[in-house]
Amino acid sequence: MSELAPLRVARPRDVEAAVALRRAENQSRYIAGGTDLIVNMRRGIRRPKLLIDLTGVEELGDVSVTQRGVRIGAAVTLAQLAAEPDVSTRYRAAAEAAEAIAGPGHRSVATVGGNLCLDTRCIYYNQSEWWRRANHYCLKHAGTVCHVAPQGKRCHAAYSGDLAPALMVLGAEIEIAGPDGHRRIPLADLYADNGRAHLKLMPGELLLCVHLPAAAPPSTYAKVRLRGAIDFPLAGVAVSLAMADGTVAALRVGLTGTNPRPFLLAETESFVGRPLDADALARLDKLVQKQVQPMRTTLASANYRRLAAAALARRLAARLAGI
Ligand SMILES: Cc1cc2nc3c(=O)[nH]c(=O)nc-3n(C[C@H](O)[C@H](O)[C@H](O)COP(=O)(O)OP(=O)(O)OC[C@H]3O[C@@H](n4cnc5c(N)ncnc54)[C@H](O)[C@@H]3O)c2cc1C
Ligand code: SF4
Repeated sequence: MSELAPLRVARPRDVEAAVALRRAENQSRYIAGGTDLIVNMRRGIRRPKLLIDLTGVEELGDVSVTQRGVRIGAAVTLAQLAAEPDVSTRYRAAAEAAEAIAGPGHRSVATVGGNLCLDTRCIYYNQSEWWRRANHYCLKHAGTVCHVAPQGKRCHAAYSGDLAPALMVLGAEIEIAGPDGHRRIPLADLYADNGRAHLKLMPGELLLCVHLPAAAPPSTYAKVRLRGAIDFPLAGVAVSLAMADGTVAALRVGLTGTNPRPFLLAETESFVGRPLDADALARLDKLVQKQVQPMRTTLASANYRRLAAAALARRLAARLAGI
C-alpha cells in the first residue's frame, strides 16, 4: 500500500453543495465510509485531489418508512440497515446481504451508497501499485492488455457488492441527484455490463437514496466466499418468491460476483403458474448457469463460481418454497 498523496477534503451539509463541489473539481470523488475508495487510493488506483465527504449530508443518513414503502438514504450504514426492524422483517434479503458484507468494523461506517457504487474487482486489479506495474498494469487501469482475456478489448472485472442483487429482487428504485436535477430509475438500470465503467452515472451525479415498495414477497440472500468471516462474494444470490395455491406467483433471482454488473435473472416469468418442484429447480439451476459469466478474475475457478451461483439459487428458492 502506498501513502496517500496530498489532497483536500470537503464536508458539504447538503446535496446541492456536494454536487456543486463535484462539478467544480474534475479530479474529485464522493466518499462515504471510505472502506473501498481509500483502499483503492492506497493502491494508487484512484488519485483524487478532492474528497467530498457525504457523511455530513443529513438528507442521506435516514431510513424512513411511509405507507408507500421505505426510503433508505445513501449514507445509511450497513449496520444501521441490518438493524432496522422494518428492513429485517419485511425485506429480509436486504438485511441478510448487509450482514454478510465485510466485518462488523467495516459495516459500522460502510454505506448503502458506497456498496451500490462499489468498484468492480479482479485479481489483476486489486493489487498494490508495484505489483500492477511489474505486470504492466491492465486494460482497466493504466495498461493496454487484459490479463484475463488477452485477445479481447473488454474488462471482465466482477461487480462484487452484496446489497445490489438483494435490493433488486425486492423491486428497488434509486434516486439520483446531479447538475441537471433529480431522476429516479430501477436499481438494475444503474449498471452497465462493462468492468471498466459499470455505473451509468453522469459526471457529478450522486446516489441519493433507495426506494423499496411497501409490499415485497418473502426473500433471502446467500453467498459463497473464500473466507467465511470477511470476504467478497465469489457468487452471491438473492431470491424473492411469492406462491399462490401451490404455484409460483412471482419469482426474482438477483446475482452478483459473477459478471461486471449485478443483474436480475431473465426468463423467471416462465416459472409463474407452475409448482416449484424438482423439475423447476433443475430448470432454474440451468438458467443461472447459462446467464452468469464468471471469468478468471478471482482465485476460485470460473466454473466453480458458475456452479455455486446455480446451486445457491436452487437452494434459496427451495427454502422459500418450504421444500
Ligand atoms: C476487508 C474488506 C472486506 C470487504 N468485504 C466486502 C463484502 O463482503 N461485500 C461487499 O459488498 N463489500 C465488501 N467490501 C467493500 C466495502 O467495504 C463495502 O462495499 C462498502 O459498503 C463500501 O461502502 P463505503 O461507504 O465504505 O464506500 P466508499 O469507499 O466511501 O465509496 C465506494 C465508491 O462509491 C462512491 N460513492 C460512495 N457513496 C456514493 C454516493 N452516494 N453516490 C455516488 N457515489 C458514491 C465513491 O466515490 C467510491 O467510488 C470489503 C472491504 C474490505 C476492506
Ligand atoms: S478483467 Fe482484465 S482488464 Fe479487467 S481488471 Fe482484470 S485483468 Fe484488468
